[in-house]
Amino acid sequence: MSEIFTGSFTQQEPIPEEAISAAMEVLRHGRLHRYNVAGDEAGETALLEREFADQMGAKYCLAVASGGYALATALRAVGVKHGDRVLTNAFTLAPVPGSIAAVGATPVYVDVTEDLTIDLEDLTAKADQADVLMLSHMRGHLCDMDRLMEICNDAGITVIEDCAHTMGAAWNGTLSGRHGTVGCYSCQTYKHVNSGEGGLLITDDEEVAARAIILSGSYMLYGRHLAAPGPEVFERVKYETPNISGRMDNLRAAILRPQLRDLEVQVARWNERYREVETGVRGTPGLTVVERPVAETYVGSSIQFLLLDWAADRVQEVLRRCAARGVELKWFGEPQPVAFTSRYDSWRYAETPSLPKSDRILAGIVDMRVPLTFSLEDCAQIARIIRAEVGAVFQGA
Ligand SMILES: *Cc1c(COP(=O)(O)O)cnc(C)c1O
Repeated sequence: MSEIFTGSFTQQEPIPEEAISAAMEVLRHGRLHRYNVAGDEAGETALLEREFADQMGAKYCLAVASGGYALATALRAVGVKHGDRVLTNAFTLAPVPGSIAAVGATPVYVDVTEDLTIDLEDLTAKADQADVLMLSHMRGHLCDMDRLMEICNDAGITVIEDCAHTMGAAWNGTLSGRHGTVGCYSCQTYKHVNSGEGGLLITDDEEVAARAIILSGSYMLYGRHLAAPGPEVFERVKYETPNISGRMDNLRAAILRPQLRDLEVQVARWNERYREVETGVRGTPGLTVVERPVAETYVGSSIQFLLLDWAADRVQEVLRRCAARGVELKWFGEPQPVAFTSRYDSWRYAETPSLPKSDRILAGIVDMRVPLTFSLEDCAQIARIIRAEVGAVFQGA
C-alpha cells in the first residue's frame, strides 16, 4: 500500500496569542477606524506603519485594504494615467495586471525565464514601450535585481515591486521592496503575515508617499500618520489627488504588528520546509528543480518545479496521481485557470500578445504551497510521493 498524505495545503497557523490580545483590546475600546483615536493615542495602524517602515529601512509606509489596492495606489502615485502602458511580468497573479487595468492602463508583458523570473533581455528589448515597470516577484523568485535596476535606470523606467511573495526576502542583502521606487506587500491569509486582507506600501519618495496617503482616503487627517512626510509635501499634492478609499483598520493592524515582529523566525521555518521538499524531489528523472541564486535570500512559502516539455496529458496524469495520494499540486499550463493559476492569456480585458518562450515555461510550471502547519516529516513524505509519481509517469508506468 503506498503512503498517502493527509494534511491540508490551505490551513495556516492560528493567529498568535499576542495578536489575539491586541485585537481584543481594539474590539473592547471600539475605535476600529484608523483615524478614530483617543487623547494622545497613536492608533494601531499608524504604529504598524512606523514599525514596518523601520523594519524595511524605508522612510514612509502606508497600510491599506489589500495587496492589490497597494499596487494600484502605487501606480497612481507614481503618475500612471488612463491609456498609459505599463511593463509587467507574463508570469504573475491576476491582481497584478488587475491593478494596471484598475488605473485604465494597459499591460505590456515581459517573458519569464526557466528561473521563473522576468527575462531581462526581453525587458531590455521592450524598455522603450513604457515609463513604469510593475515588477512581480512571482512565487518568491527574485531576478538579478542589480542588473534589473541598471536596465530600468538607464531607460528612465520607474520600478514598482510587487512583494506579495517576497516579504522578508532579499537580493545581495537588500530587502525586496527596497530596490524600486515603491514596494507593495499583501497581508492576505496566504502570504507571509495574515490579517485576512490587507496591504502595505513603502517608499522613500515624499511625493509618492503623500499622494498614496491622500489616495487611500485620509480625509486630510494625514497629520496623524507616523511614517509620512511633513505637511508641506501634502500641501503640494492634496488638491490634485483624489480620495479612492482603501484604508487599513486598527483591528487588522493590531493582528499584524506581533506577526511582523516574528517575520524572521517564520522565514527560517518556511525555508526548512522548502529545503526538505526540494532535497526530496531533486534528481527525479524528468523534473527540473528551480535553482536559487546565491545572491537571493528567499522565503520558501511555496515551491515550484518544472516538467519542461512534457505533454499536457502526462502532466495532468502526475497531478491526478499526486492528488489521489493527498498532494495538491497546481499547474500553470492548465488551459482554463484553476484557483490562482491564471496566465497572461486569461486576462482578456487586455491585449494578449504572442509569447512562445513564456508559453513553453508556463506549460511546465508545477506549484505547491508550503504552509507552516506542515511538519518537516510531512514535507519529506510529500516529496517522496511527488518523486514516485513523477518517476512513474515519466517512465510510462
Ligand atoms: C496575493 C497577491 C497579490 C495581491 O494581494 P491581495 O492582497 O490578494 O490583493 C499581488 N501579487 C501577487 C503575486 C499575489 O500573489
